[in-house]
Amino acid sequence: MAINVKPIPRKVQVPTTKKPAVQIPAQSSASNYSAADGFARARAINEKRQRDFEARKFRPIEFNAKVGEGGINGVTVILTDNTRAPNLPYFHYCHRWGFEQGNPQTEVCIQDDPEGCPLCRKLNRKGSYEMVLTCIDTRPFTYKAGPNMGKTVQRSTKPYVVKTSMIPQFERLYRAHKTFRGMVLKVFRDNQKSPSSGSSVEFVRMLSEAELGKYGDLAKPLDYKKAYPRMDAATMARTYEADTGEGGTLGSADFASGAKNDALPF
Ligand SMILES: [Zn+2]
Repeated sequence: MAINVKPIPRKVQVPTTKKPAVQIPAQSSASNYSAADGFARARAINEKRQRDFEARKFRPIEFNAKVGEGGINGVTVILTDNTRAPNLPYFHYCHRWGFEQGNPQTEVCIQDDPEGCPLCRKLNRKGSYEMVLTCIDTRPFTYKAGPNMGKTVQRSTKPYVVKTSMIPQFERLYRAHKTFRGMVLKVFRDNQKSPSSGSSVEFVRMLSEAELGKYGDLAKPLDYKKAYPRMDAATMARTYEADTGEGGTLGSADFASGAKNDALPF
């Protein structure tokens, strides 16, 4: 009895062709894993859980509008980025996947790294280009997790992610007003396929610093490097190649429909 059978690399199971997936020969009594592989896998799963936990602990909840929310008034947001500062607004490439599995995940894409992006290779798709702004969301918001779980706030500060298709609208607003800071917008989301940060926006007015001051700390732009930490290629490879399919990680469904998932405009 061969007890040294290695686990199949998950990508072998991707149904990208019509060929039948490679199967491990059936075994009646022994595990498919050697002792060393079995223990190593458990360690990898535990380490991955811990990393996911750490990453999510600080990951801010992004602004997200429901289809048709707010009717003809849309959802009102106040942008707070002081885009007269250097290196703002903030742009990055980002991978988003797992929506269909009910476990959305976000990771900054490092496709501009000389070593390339391990997650691009794994998902077989490049991360999409986004502009990240900070908004004051004027809707009451109840925390579903974390230290504030169950607490409802009347307003909250959130990342406002502008997808590539929406960036030209924001570029026009930026050129017209020279900054996003204090910009009040009505956000409309027309359908399920349109970005969760809205498929169109309507300019309302600019707030002065005195008016923004009434919002206190809520009017502070986010620290994007903290909110969206960037892994180096080695760490990313370790993180996602140690992936075992354990809850919330990359599964074969992600590979099979990776392009579709990543194309979702969230
Ligand atoms: Zn990538």
